[in-house]
Amino acid sequence: MAGVTLRGVEKRFDKTVVIKNLDLEVHEHEFMVLVGPSGCGKTTVLRMIAGLEEISGGTITIGDRVVNDLPPKDRDIAMVFQSYALYPHMTVRENLEFGLKIRRTPRAQIDRLVDHAAQLLGIAPLLERTPRELSGGQRQRVAVGRAIVRQPAVFLFDEPLSNLDAKQRVQMRAEIAKLQQRLQTTTIYVTHDQVEAMTMGQRVAVFKDGELKQVGTPMELYDRPATVFVAGFIGTPPMNFIAASITDGGATLTAPTFTLPVPATLRPVTDAAPGRRVVVGVRPENILDANREGRGETAAVEAEVEIAEPLGSEVIVHARAGDDMLVAKLDPHRHPAPGETISLVIELEALHLFDAETQQRLDRAPQDRAPAVVPAGNSAV
Ligand code: ATP
Repeated sequence: MAGVTLRGVEKRFDKTVVIKNLDLEVHEHEFMVLVGPSGCGKTTVLRMIAGLEEISGGTITIGDRVVNDLPPKDRDIAMVFQSYALYPHMTVRENLEFGLKIRRTPRAQIDRLVDHAAQLLGIAPLLERTPRELSGGQRQRVAVGRAIVRQPAVFLFDEPLSNLDAKQRVQMRAEIAKLQQRLQTTTIYVTHDQVEAMTMGQRVAVFKDGELKQVGTPMELYDRPATVFVAGFIGTPPMNFIAASITDGGATLTAPTFTLPVPATLRPVTDAAPGRRVVVGVRPENILDANREGRGETAAVEAEVEIAEPLGSEVIVHARAGDDMLVAKLDPHRHPAPGETISLVIELEALHLFDAETQQRLDRAPQDRAPAVVPAGNSAV
């Protein structure tokens, strides 16, 4: 098993730069998720690690070998594709055996590896069927099985669950995460789905426009997003953003149609930036019904309900406060009607403050600043 290190990796298609100066370190045994909106370059990164796409600059190291010039078959990786890429005319057993046969693995070892993978994935009863005779979820398991039997140093997954329905996706994502914990194989997993990223990744790397924006554990990204983009990308419903200025020497956040007092915990940040134009971020779960007691310092806001979406465990309320729309996750047993004015409580200590111009978090921790190579633990670039 091996870690994977990318240093200064670039990818250009003709003159178009699609990956810019990428530094990323995936530790041995780690489950790293690459996530970002469509077209951000995450699949290209995975394909460069696999050797399916040449790099235009930088180095990629797997274990202690620089693999820049190695063909895919010599990189000790196994890739699982969105399309499964199973051979339709072969049985499940033959699909699982194929890569091993090509490598001239002894028969007894092939049987042992295939049986073991089939047991792990619960596909032993399906071994004599062809892919046509399987459900989407079963095909996906076979595709994962084909990667497992190879016993590679690194698993690469490219949106492997996109063709499954919502229920199967939830089931398979737990299965893949459990499997990785059991096998401890270093894994790099690409998805555009932030819920998949948060639930599966030990660390998550967030990409936008060919650049790595932040890498950290799911909770680090949730609690301390380094930019407005990451803040809006991680979490559902997304964080609310309010344009405001720091006024009263740091004591108040003034939006066009309402003000919020700055809690003591954030005063060191606002006191250092009086007059600054900021984006104030507040997650829907930090806006409460007025009858609930918030954590720490709070402020009351009146808002007019536009829509309320009951989800059973909570109700998502979209309400207008002055010029701003606020989305709040509220108690499901209260279902405010459109047009109703409701009192909301904002947990002030949970506010996120970003510079309006640079879009960067104002209270960036030292480790949030760009390192040359991402160290273990939290970091952002
Ligand atoms: P998606 O989730 O839609 O697959 P992605 O984040 O995986 O998106 P990539 O497939 O890595 O994005 O593509 C990154 C960028 O590179 C896109 O703008 C894409 O159009 C461009 N690109 C990818 N492959 C090629 C190619 N062979 N030639 C030219 N441009 C390409």
